[in-house]
Order: sequence, then structure tokens, then C-alpha cells
Amino acid sequence: MSLETPSSLQPSSRLPVVFIGHGSPLNVIDDNAFRPRWEALGQQFGPDARWPRPQLILCISAHWLTQGWWLTAMAQPRTIHDFGGFPPALFAQQYPAPGAPALARQLAQLLHQPDTQAPLGLDETDWGLDHGCWSVLKPMFPAADIPVIQLSMDYSRPPSEHFQLGRQLQALRERGVLVLASGNTVHNLRYIQRDVPDDQAYDWAIEFDRITAEHIAQGRLAALQEFQQLGPLAQLAHPSYDHYLPLLYAAGAVCPGETPEFFNDQYQAASIAMRSVVWS
Ligand code: ZN
Repeated sequence: MSLETPSSLQPSSRLPVVFIGHGSPLNVIDDNAFRPRWEALGQQFGPDARWPRPQLILCISAHWLTQGWWLTAMAQPRTIHDFGGFPPALFAQQYPAPGAPALARQLAQLLHQPDTQAPLGLDETDWGLDHGCWSVLKPMFPAADIPVIQLSMDYSRPPSEHFQLGRQLQALRERGVLVLASGNTVHNLRYIQRDVPDDQAYDWAIEFDRITAEHIAQGRLAALQEFQQLGPLAQLAHPSYDHYLPLLYAAGAVCPGETPEFFNDQYQAASIAMRSVVWS
């Protein structure tokens, strides 16, 4: 796909596409098996590392749902504590990464709304970085010195359009952009069980995650759009599918011939799958 890219982004060797299962907001401060692997992934970027340091992180989070598609375009996006009932230590967390307003304006013109073909919206005042984004980025890039732009999701639109917008992100990966999608392959908060070990989950959670992983492992990425055909299984895994949709952006941004690597392929609280994927 040839695509004009913003002049301020320099050509780079292709950065990977990442899908992170983020689970509980507490993962960013609590002891758990998942965060060390986010930290280890972040350490694979930089001089003499596996991949170059990103010039920009474009984050698609389960937690920013809008009418139409928007980009954050503020110079200093605020850290949003978009949850309740957690300890003060979690509300004290900050991730002061800069935004990139000029770049957001260029990207808004370059990308387009999959349904209307119009430019993306620019949010200069309202959003910021929600916990789907910062709770993962903080362990990965603790210095918070790489600019971050969030891309929202129009939840009212069909899965195919989310996948299509992911496709549009492919070319940016050769311009130093790290496309990072943050959700969960299984996410049903109604069935959460405390104190269940990470390797145990409901049968339906294991089954939906397994089917998803098989599509990914076999390179059947377009098939991920058809998850609702799994009927009751899909409804159990995702009573709302905000945490599934980010996977479609990541899958859409994968280039032909790339291979997936899984990590954190375990569960949290029996009804959340933490499976994460890096394609390169
Ligand atoms: Zn979440």
C-alpha cells in the first residue's frame, strides 16, 4: 500500500504491531505475571535492540469509544483514571508522555473514516490517555518520552470497518510508528472470580481464546472480523465487544508474510484472557 506519510516522520525499518491484553487496571502496580513481560517487550526497542525506538506510539484502546473516529491532538494529554473502586495508589499514577498535535493533524488528513471517507476527527481538549493505554505504556516505556496519540473507535460501526482502519495503519509502521492495540481476547466482567490462578478460566473463555489464537497462528486475520458468528460463545466471551475490537486494528495493520509471537497467554479472574501478540 503506498501512502503519503507525514514529513515529520522519518523512514524506519518496520516496527512490529502489538496487541496487548491489559486486564485489570491494577496490573500496572500490583504483583502479577503480566507486567514483567510488558516491561521486557518495551526493552526490545531502542539503539542496538531488536527494533528501533518508535518516533510515535499510536494507541488504540478498548476504553475510548466515540461517534466517528478521532485522534487525540493535545500537546500534553492528561492521564485519565477511567475506573472506580481502586486504591488511591492507582489514581496517583501518571503517564506524562507528550502528544503530537501537528502530527495528529497530518494523520487525520492521511487516514480516513472507513464509513464516510472523511478525515478523522481531532480531539484537542477532551480525552487524553486512558488506562487501556497508559497502564501498558508505563511499564513498556517508563521514561514517557515518546509521543503518544490515541485513536478512538466508533463502536456503532461493524467489525469490518475497524479492520479496514487497521489496514490504513500498515504504512505508518515504516515511518517509526508503533501501532499498539490494547484490549483482551476474552473480557466478561460479569463472571469475574477473584483468586483463580492465571492458568485457569471458564471453558467458554478458554475456547474463545483458543479459536482466536488459532486464527492468528494460521494467518487467518480477516476471519477475526467474523467473531460474532460464534454466537453464544462470542456473547459469553464479549457481552460487549469493546475489548475485542482493538485486536482488529492490530490484525489489519499486519503486513503479508509477518508471523505472530504470543505472550501472556494466560487468564485473569477466570473470565479475562490476557493473550498478547506481537507481529513482525
Ligand atoms: Zn479494559
